[in-house]
Amino acid sequence: MNHHIESEILWSSIRNPVCRQCSLHKGVKTVCCIGDGPVPAEGMIVGEAPGGDEDKNGIPFSGKAGTFLRQQLEEIGLDPKTLFITNVVKCHPPKNKTPKRTEANACSSLYLPKEIAAVKPKVILLLGGTAISWAKGAKSAVGKLEGSTFKLGDGTVCVPSRHPSAVLRGNRGPFKENLLLFRDALKQAGANRQ
Ligand code: URA
Repeated sequence: MNHHIESEILWSSIRNPVCRQCSLHKGVKTVCCIGDGPVPAEGMIVGEAPGGDEDKNGIPFSGKAGTFLRQQLEEIGLDPKTLFITNVVKCHPPKNKTPKRTEANACSSLYLPKEIAAVKPKVILLLGGTAISWAKGAKSAVGKLEGSTFKLGDGTVCVPSRHPSAVLRGNRGPFKENLLLFRDALKQAGANRQ
């Protein structure tokens, strides 16, 4: 899997390969694994943090959870290549642990807003508690929010969902319905543009 060509610009302008904002840089291969996809893009996907495969490849959602996510998107007629895909936290946490609030805050106060400013998404799919809590600005439970949408201060529509890794662990729930909500919000954004 190669970087999307437009992502190279973000890769060189936003990314800090010697970032020391938190201690997660220790022991990773890819320090500051910036997102991948077209810039600008109407749709953006924000996950938690790179896993082991993503750390090796330097591309968010390029492992098992990503393959599943991309498959599910394609099944409902959404081309993953048209979406900008990134994470709240840019360094792979050891043993895939959920990033601490302090780590998530240190990282997402810096890189994610710069990605959003460049990508200018109309709709963001938030995968898992870390991403939802980032958007809400407070610890938020997936189960309470999925199935609904909310807006960021600038009007960007957010679609909260459980994480594909949770789905792969058997926690299936309304994952497909969440993706359909994302697809419909994107269609709506496209219709409003014309
Ligand atoms: N899980 C995430 O949240 N992000 C990735 O990039 C891969 C797995």
